[in-house]
Amino acid sequence: MSTPTLTTATKVSQLIGGQWVPADSGNWIEVENPARREVLALIPDSGAADVDRAVAAAKAAFGPWKALPARDRGALLIKIGDTIAENSEKLARIIASETGNALRTQARGEAASGADIFRFYGQIASEQKGETLPFGENLVSYTVREPLGVVGGIVPWNAPVTLSSLKIAMALAMGNTLVLKTAELAPLAVLQLAEWAHEILPAGVLNVLTGSGRNVGVPLSKHPDVAKLTFTGSTGVGKEILAAAADRIVPVTLELGGKSPAIVFPDSDDDATVDGVISGMRFTRQGQSCTAGSRLYLHEDIFDSFLEKLKTKLAAFTIGDPLDEATDIGAIVSEKQFDTVCRYITSGIAQGGTVITGGPERPVDGDGFFVAPTVITGAGPDWDITREEVFGPVLVVIPWKDEDQVLAAANDSAYGLAGYVWTKDITKAIRTANALEVGWIQINRGGGQLPGMSYGGIKQSGLGREYSVDGALESFTQVKNITIAV
Ligand code: NAD
Repeated sequence: MSTPTLTTATKVSQLIGGQWVPADSGNWIEVENPARREVLALIPDSGAADVDRAVAAAKAAFGPWKALPARDRGALLIKIGDTIAENSEKLARIIASETGNALRTQARGEAASGADIFRFYGQIASEQKGETLPFGENLVSYTVREPLGVVGGIVPWNAPVTLSSLKIAMALAMGNTLVLKTAELAPLAVLQLAEWAHEILPAGVLNVLTGSGRNVGVPLSKHPDVAKLTFTGSTGVGKEILAAAADRIVPVTLELGGKSPAIVFPDSDDDATVDGVISGMRFTRQGQSCTAGSRLYLHEDIFDSFLEKLKTKLAAFTIGDPLDEATDIGAIVSEKQFDTVCRYITSGIAQGGTVITGGPERPVDGDGFFVAPTVITGAGPDWDITREEVFGPVLVVIPWKDEDQVLAAANDSAYGLAGYVWTKDITKAIRTANALEVGWIQINRGGGQLPGMSYGGIKQSGLGREYSVDGALESFTQVKNITIAV
């Protein structure tokens, strides 16, 4: 494997006010391919001065953008979606290179989701409607849904195009302008998307910054001209964003971490459920998903047979270079994340957990950050590996006997993002879904969110909803009431 070298890396600029610019500081940050350990590019190491410029550009662009008819804004978003679709292979290869997610199983799907999201919100832009109120013939009273102004959006690295597309499409469809902060580990696909969007949108409507959380995220979240914050990332940083929003009393949406339960009933000891559990655990995204069903509750009657099937199916996955068509499972995004994942596995083993498959040893030669899908049994309910978000390919499997017991265990979590229920008995399925304390539940489905679904967490998994039409309306507009005496 080659070692990182600065000489081959290209400098990629960020988008402020319709211009492609370096950081005010003149400093750069390396972006690495975590599988090949090559430096892919250098991105601007921005700071407060860059945030100020971007917010000023978004503020200047807000009036004319807000004044555009909603369907005209929507038409531009659909155009961006079409451009992504036409160039999706290029985008997918960038995603695979910087995130480590396999091209065939993950990155192509993520690029397609970007096109889908822009088209969806482009089509529903004119749903930004108000209501008329029945006060009799002498009063005409109605509401309008107005955009908020400059939105500050912050995204993580694990699904950079999907999450950035959501923030951009929702904010812009509703007439806001946006300053989007990319994740330092995976900014390149978002910058590519921004390049296409820049050809279509008026200058300043979309501004995309690169840099660290401390230097860009903090000043963006505290900026006096930012009217709304939308953050996707860890719960710890989410609390800082909430405090920044509280300080200025601006609305905030938080899409945070999770430790989601997947409950399998005894009637579902079959291949389709095993496939669904693997998909829900996001093993082909190295488990690096907020909605990963990472606590698997298996009924004791099927515990051994289900585990055997799971082990056999996981053994058939090919782990390797994300850009190789044969690869099912790519690399963990960074050394820091790799070390964290390995630390959770070794601590689970040290505490007495049994590794059914996987483990902390690198499954691929070389220094790429590969971790095999890891399944652990025997973990106690209070162990870190059972309670904390690992954000890696680590599945904790826990036996259960009766429904009350499994629901109590599943709900015994600080998080409340997603939940998965596997049974052919619709009554049991709905009873379980009703009882689970989470924001987004899948019954007999392991796939991800689709545009239109209401999505978001409860407890420490977040505040507010995104992805749906209502999510865009509630999170990216404010209601004004106007009353006329006749
Ligand atoms: P992170 O919180 O470390 O970083 C997320 C973003 O916030 C990055 O752009 C980072 O630079 C920025 N940031 C960091 N510190 C900041 C600060 N003090 N102020 C402002 N911005 C700051 O998260 P991560 O490691 O990039 O992503 C993994 C986390 O994201 C996991 O917890 C995962 O569950 C969560 N996530 C949630 C969802 C969801 O929809 N609920 C989706 C994807 C990821």
